[in-house]
Amino acid sequence: MRYSLHQAEERLIGLGFPKYRAEQVFKWIWQKNAGEFSVMTNISKELRGYFNDRFVIAGVKIAGLQCEGTDAEKYLLELEDGVNVESVYIREGGRRTICVSCQAGCPLACKFCATGLIGLKRSLHAYEIADQVRTIQEKRGEKCSNVVFMGMGEPFINYDAVFGALEIMSSPIGLGIGRRHTTVSTVGIVEGIEALLKSSIRVKLAISLNFADEEMRQEFMPVARTNPLKDILKLAKTYSLKKEMVTFEYVIIKDINDSIRDARKLMVLLRNIPSKINLIPYNEHPRLPYRRPSEKSIDAFFTYLLESHHTVVIRKSRGQRILAACGQLSGAKAGII
Ligand code: SAH
Repeated sequence: MRYSLHQAEERLIGLGFPKYRAEQVFKWIWQKNAGEFSVMTNISKELRGYFNDRFVIAGVKIAGLQCEGTDAEKYLLELEDGVNVESVYIREGGRRTICVSCQAGCPLACKFCATGLIGLKRSLHAYEIADQVRTIQEKRGEKCSNVVFMGMGEPFINYDAVFGALEIMSSPIGLGIGRRHTTVSTVGIVEGIEALLKSSIRVKLAISLNFADEEMRQEFMPVARTNPLKDILKLAKTYSLKKEMVTFEYVIIKDINDSIRDARKLMVLLRNIPSKINLIPYNEHPRLPYRRPSEKSIDAFFTYLLESHHTVVIRKSRGQRILAACGQLSGAKAGII
């Protein structure tokens, strides 16, 4: 059904059904992958017919799959209106992570990101975001342990749908994924971080800082012009203190933001904020001019931060070869860039 959990409940209660009916239907769809009402055997035949006449069970369809069976599979998923999004499955030790898209394309146009090149086609509904996880789980025949909102799009310019998807994902009658195993990554939209803070949702929050310098940030990330660093940092601190420790993502790009001076600025900026830094060596894309720094400069940057007593990790990028790594998703079908 094209509903989040509370919408499904409201709708069925509105039609005079008890709440447990919505829960039954929800479990069938999200936990048993029911694609039609006729298979819902704990619901009377009559009622199944009634639902069938009034509702559709909608979802995403797999339209392409690259590197099947490897540690990083890239899925091309088709929405009902023919629009495509990409999701990535990543296996690492015992962890099974699915990286979901919340928009088809992205309107932010960060200069270094391939998704920005295609612009925004449309935002996704809650069920379309959650269904990426369900579909990949069904295809692989295994449950995923973690979800990251680091695919196409910006979660906080589509936060109603994102919050609805989080509800489906975390609910014990939905996908049942722990909220602490879910990370929402934002470019730093003040309004969205505020909304998440106010809500009862307890997910991990990652903020794509990328530049420690306001001017540089604005030059490379146009959205920064209306979302000042000082506001973002203030909210990040509150989030770390009240909910979960924030992670700052820093995409390190050759000759742009990879000097020790940049590392020092970053250290000073984050000095009083309980946080972790996730250093992401730039993933090159054939249509973009930016380059990945040498291992030596990545290491020097990393060591500087570490020695400044900041928790910092370097992200091992998966799926670079198939353009499935961070910032490389652009909706291209296999083989076509
Ligand atoms: N809009 C959200 C979600 C996208 S997550 C956000 O900005 O957080 C994508 C992550 O990949 C972001 O941290 C982004 O800064 C980073 N990124 C973009 N292009 C990249 C590239 N080419 N190489 C490595 N990381 C990149």
